[in-house]
Amino acid sequence: MKKVSVQCRNIRLAYGSTEVLKNVNLDIQPGEFFALLGPSGSGKSTLLRLIAGFNKHQHGELLVDGHDIGQQEPWERNIGMVFQSYALWPHLSVWDNVAFGLVERKVDKRTLQAKVSAALDLVGLSAFGQRKPNQLSGGQQQRVALARTIVIEPQVLLLDEPLSNLDKTLRVQMRQELLALQRRLGITTIFVTHDQEEAMTTADRMAVLDQGVVQQVGSPAELYDEPVNAFVANFVGTMNMLDAMVLSQHSDNLVLDVKGVGEMTIPVPLKVSRLYVKDQHVQLSFRPHAVTVDTKSGPDGERTIGMQGNVEASEFMGELTRYRVRVGTQSLSVEQAHYAGLSKLPLGTPLSLRLSSSQIRLFAV
Ligand code: ADP
Repeated sequence: MKKVSVQCRNIRLAYGSTEVLKNVNLDIQPGEFFALLGPSGSGKSTLLRLIAGFNKHQHGELLVDGHDIGQQEPWERNIGMVFQSYALWPHLSVWDNVAFGLVERKVDKRTLQAKVSAALDLVGLSAFGQRKPNQLSGGQQQRVALARTIVIEPQVLLLDEPLSNLDKTLRVQMRQELLALQRRLGITTIFVTHDQEEAMTTADRMAVLDQGVVQQVGSPAELYDEPVNAFVANFVGTMNMLDAMVLSQHSDNLVLDVKGVGEMTIPVPLKVSRLYVKDQHVQLSFRPHAVTVDTKSGPDGERTIGMQGNVEASEFMGELTRYRVRVGTQSLSVEQAHYAGLSKLPLGTPLSLRLSSSQIRLFAV
């Protein structure tokens, strides 16, 4: 099957006077597994439904394989969508649910048999054809919904929060299955989720949406390591965000007054794409794991920034323990990798923290 691209060009969509998608531009590559990530209400489903043809934009172009399909009705588009609710027919068997789209398309019987059988095989449900949806687990129902969509061989597969009805363990398993299936079919897939872990672990690239605006597009690692603004930094992964004011910028360092912590000198080269001016307000950010926890005090290293604090709260998370550490009047999130036998630090424990300066990001405010 030919792999196709999906492009949004200056797409705007409003419900009445409320603009929900504001000049959306996206270039989704042929065969790509692309995630739309954003908080609830950011416009993800609206955009997905627009690609499917259930919503119509007022401005811009929607191109599939280079052709503008904006005026086509949903059934005229060669696009398959899996809904969050699966929307299986409860009175039909698994086989008939999967066959439904082919029956509607009046496909001859032999082709229908072969295609339904192949689709069920692909999702590992060959033995379940005669069951009704209510005789299946959540994960199996999810696979029927997938089989029903891929059986019509769409050029583009749209998935609207397809795993949100499953429990955590199954969700992790199903997202790997989904990815493996997508790779086997090579079908351009757009996946909506509000779960950043889900997007990070599966997507080739992703777009982060906030209030109908695409904030950033890139690979999971690009968005995680080089977020373009504070919204993306906070939404993708966990970030410490500290308000600060620029005291001075010299050739080899930037001196900041970090609110509640005090003066902090950040050595350059820093990943700053701009010059900062005295008295400018900025947000200083770093990931919890950029901080090394040391229960003994030690001298500051050259490339690290030292801070003193006390354990304020802790959460054991399996592979790591996340601490809230009081530094000045700020509360920082820091992580310590866990190994068997390492016990949680009691509340109040004094800590020396070392922050790796190369991991600091600054955002203008
Ligand atoms: P998400 O999928 O990111 O949660 P949605 O695309 O569902 O967001 O919704 C984006 C915004 O559009 C929300 O503010 C929502 O209330 C609004 N919205 C969605 N559907 C409609 C509709 N049919 N009529 C009016 N407003 C809508």
